[in-house]
Amino acid sequence: MTKQLSILALLLLTLTGCSPSSTTLPAVKLYAMDCGITDISDMSDFSIEGKYKGEKLTLVYPCFLISHPKGDLIWDTGLPQTIADMPGGLKMGVYHMQVKANLKQQLGQLNMTTKDIEFLSLSHSHFDHVGNANLFAQSTFIVNAPEREYMFSDNRKHTDQDSLALYSELEKAKTTTFNNEHDVFGDGTVMIKSMPGHTVGSAILMLKLAKAGPVILTGDLYTHARARTMETFTRYHGDQAQTKRSREAFEDLVKQKKARVIIQHEKADYDALPAFPMYLE
Ligand SMILES: [Zn+2]
Repeated sequence: MTKQLSILALLLLTLTGCSPSSTTLPAVKLYAMDCGITDISDMSDFSIEGKYKGEKLTLVYPCFLISHPKGDLIWDTGLPQTIADMPGGLKMGVYHMQVKANLKQQLGQLNMTTKDIEFLSLSHSHFDHVGNANLFAQSTFIVNAPEREYMFSDNRKHTDQDSLALYSELEKAKTTTFNNEHDVFGDGTVMIKSMPGHTVGSAILMLKLAKAGPVILTGDLYTHARARTMETFTRYHGDQAQTKRSREAFEDLVKQKKARVIIQHEKADYDALPAFPMYLE
């Protein structure tokens, strides 16, 4: 290439934004897949302070796919797919759970199978987040060390056999454990951070998206939007004091990063995301 031509090429590269020195973030996409819905006829369980007695609430149970140029991460796996086969869904007390979509079929819409997923991580190991976890036993399981210990403890084996059966295959999966935070792709765009309290190793997911900016998925640090504004605690938080400390750390983080917050079970937050197979980028 002549000197003149190479200068022209450099100029074109700069003008088209393809300069080698470009600082553009990698193209990370956030997909929210439908992995169930629950109608609650009495929200009493959602405030130990008694603030929601007799109120109704609909919660959503998304499975999130985070697509990064270096690989794909599934964050939470929703309600068990077996509920889809139950006529009218599953009724347990005030809870009416339904699964209308199919996780494998949704991945299929992106021409993907579960085998294409390099990484699986869970905000925590409660029933409604591990429903399809065994589908990803061939992925690398990224988990907070205390949460993994809790998942496969004798106590869990004796007291929560139903949940354990949904993720039992992960005990043998290739596993990466962390304690405070884990940078999934090594560039700071997809970070998993400990926010214990709801369970011993609960975590949140922090994303840096090129267009949408910083986005944080809460796990069950908050189970619905009013839990955040009214500062209520469900009876499902294992350690209320620890949850409170994590919420304070979380709110500091949100302010510092100016992040968009997605409360995972909050229908309004889910509805505000692009409808699958569209994505936030
Ligand atoms: Zn939950």
